[in-house]
Amino acid sequence: MYNSIISFFNNKNSEMKAFKIQDLKRETRIGITANNLSEILQKGKQKLKISNDVQVTVVLEKDGTEVTSNDYLKTLDPQTVLVFLKPGESWMEAGEQVYHSLNKLYNRTKQTDVVKKLRELMSDEKSPEKISIISHYLDQLQTDPVSEERHEHEDWFEGVDKKFNKKSDFMRNAAQQRIRSYYTSAKDQIKKENDPCVKACLDEVMNKLNEELKRNKFHGDYFDRTASKNKICDKKGWFTCEGAFDEGSCSSFHKINPYASRGFRHMFGLWNLDHIVEKSREVIPKLIKAAQNKRKAEDINFDEVYKYLFKRDNLRLVYIGCHKKAAREQTISFDQFYVSRQETLLNDIPVI
Ligand SMILES: [Zn+2]
Repeated sequence: MYNSIISFFNNKNSEMKAFKIQDLKRETRIGITANNLSEILQKGKQKLKISNDVQVTVVLEKDGTEVTSNDYLKTLDPQTVLVFLKPGESWMEAGEQVYHSLNKLYNRTKQTDVVKKLRELMSDEKSPEKISIISHYLDQLQTDPVSEERHEHEDWFEGVDKKFNKKSDFMRNAAQQRIRSYYTSAKDQIKKENDPCVKACLDEVMNKLNEELKRNKFHGDYFDRTASKNKICDKKGWFTCEGAFDEGSCSSFHKINPYASRGFRHMFGLWNLDHIVEKSREVIPKLIKAAQNKRKAEDINFDEVYKYLFKRDNLRLVYIGCHKKAAREQTISFDQFYVSRQETLLNDIPVI
């Protein structure tokens, strides 16, 4: 009898598990122990000061899975973080929570201060406490990501040339300027070539590249949320960091909507459209080398050069925090820039 009582208590104790609970805004994270779901609800509501008659949904902090049964509860690791959602609330990732709040940012007078403060806070922190502070702070402010015209959101256009009346037009221009700067710096770099034959060959390539850029309207589509294809953002204007050149993706939830406020428009300047295979250390020197070593039966494969300089194949949008200055290992061989003259001629034959 005595043993069975002991074993009863042991069993009971073994089911007692420690959890961490918090509300959606992640303002507080509190440790509790509980045997089952109803105990979690009861203790949790008390700690989070939620009245007993409020219907609460309990979800996992890491991925939003709803906890509905004791059986499932048993499968969770000790110290699992649970979020208490009140009616009308839905789970968001910590990073998403911040950006959801950022989305509302809109302040006429303190924009620069806000952005500066945000940058400091978000530069190296992922702690729930700081995320909570940022969310809270930003909830007080407002953004307007939907409007498109100057008269609808004048603050966004402050300091913007009068010729732009639509946000998308301004953003198109911003993309075009970046692409144009890649062209100009490539041109500057090859200017140093002295050999007249090589120079003639390179000039021809640059002219062809320029023609193709014009045809593609200098890839303004990259930043234009109204573009039908090739845009890097979604149709609301959200851009997601694609991570450092040597990583598959960004693990820090970097996102931005430069259409939302003047501050974000400015902040977007800190986002780089990085070349994966570097332009000035790798692509241009290899192009020059290709021009120097070109045989008579060969032409410069300008499509390939174009791809490496201006196409998304070799461009990656990266937040400054994920931008690495270190030299990259990705290299290309200069022979990649050749195409045999025969091939060019065949391609030029019109199809009858
Ligand atoms: Zn990132």
